[in-house]
Amino acid sequence: MPGLSDRTRGFTDSVIRRMTRISNECGAINLSQGFPDFDPPQEVLDRLEEVSHAGPHQYSVTWGAQNFREALAEKQSRFMGRRIDPDSEVVVTCGSTEAMMAVMMSIINPGDRVVIFSPFYENYGADTILSGAEPIYVELRQPDYTYDPEELEAAFAMKPKALILCNPSNPCGKVFTRQELLHIARLAEEHDVFVVTDEVYEHILYRPHEHVYFATLPGMWERTISCSSLSKTYSITGWRLGYVIGPAHIIDVVRKVHDFLTVGAPAPLQEALVPALRFGDDYYRDLQRKYTEKRDLFLEGLDEAGIIHNVPQGAYYVLVDISEFGYEDDHRFCEDLARIVGVGAVPGSSFFREPVNNLARLHFAKSEETLTAALDRLRHIDRLRR
Ligand code: GLN
Repeated sequence: MPGLSDRTRGFTDSVIRRMTRISNECGAINLSQGFPDFDPPQEVLDRLEEVSHAGPHQYSVTWGAQNFREALAEKQSRFMGRRIDPDSEVVVTCGSTEAMMAVMMSIINPGDRVVIFSPFYENYGADTILSGAEPIYVELRQPDYTYDPEELEAAFAMKPKALILCNPSNPCGKVFTRQELLHIARLAEEHDVFVVTDEVYEHILYRPHEHVYFATLPGMWERTISCSSLSKTYSITGWRLGYVIGPAHIIDVVRKVHDFLTVGAPAPLQEALVPALRFGDDYYRDLQRKYTEKRDLFLEGLDEAGIIHNVPQGAYYVLVDISEFGYEDDHRFCEDLARIVGVGAVPGSSFFREPVNNLARLHFAKSEETLTAALDRLRHIDRLRR
């Protein structure tokens, strides 16, 4: 038989999705793969029902239905404080997963270097492999996940083509400060580098932390390609609606890559989401309040169970320290956590370039009931002590 492609040889299964399978197998409460167990807003469900009869059921314009792009551009213009042109500066994609892949395919040549902060969301590994990029990792250092400015400067000195910026950050919950972002911006300008953002948690922040859109920093619009998603903002991770926003000449190419990858994002789901894109500021305030309550409830519960953890500034993940349980392998720890304690988590090592195996990632995008049930189980975590 002929061999399979060289580029997929380095591929491993997604650890996040694997932990979801293990959690399901053993009936664990799945706090591994980050998605809500509560419904999207009622308006979204009502509109979806109408659309199921009224349509559209056929392809929309490949780069996004006109009314969807207009509503999205209007919302993002409001939050980014810059007028986004729905006709030339937006592509609607199948989740931000496709958004990032399409962007990488549009800007990267095989052998180009890409700066990635570690820990990082595991898809960036696959994105770099598929686009032929060589990653340069810059460490976000525990416990507060700040970076060493000199290490970042050294990475830029290696002539990268792009930097990937996940902000707010999965898995460490870091929200980059304006000062850090201005430093990155200065380097991007000096070394003529693109910045590809992943801002899917743009509306999930904890006071006093605030989200700064990288594209809105002085001089950065031209070199920033912003990727995001509606998954987290409207609790619709299964709908696979994401987008890319950027300068028209880049978007023009991303559109083509996107067209050949997927033709388009689901037309009926775009139609059903239009009213949500027109929600007022109170929706986003309320989302923030709800997630703050979840975070506080969950972190307090971890404290009561004596579990050491970081305090996320944004997104909905927490990294817990598992050093004291005596495991050498965090994958084994997470399997035992699912099977013996009944809670699904992701081994921290799957996010780090560095040899880190003392962490596990839990998420708290769940109803109060689910979080309380998970905390009840986590009180028995001592069963794992060796
Ligand atoms: N972004 C979510 C996480 O990190 C979901 C990942 C996925 O499976 N697409 O868990």
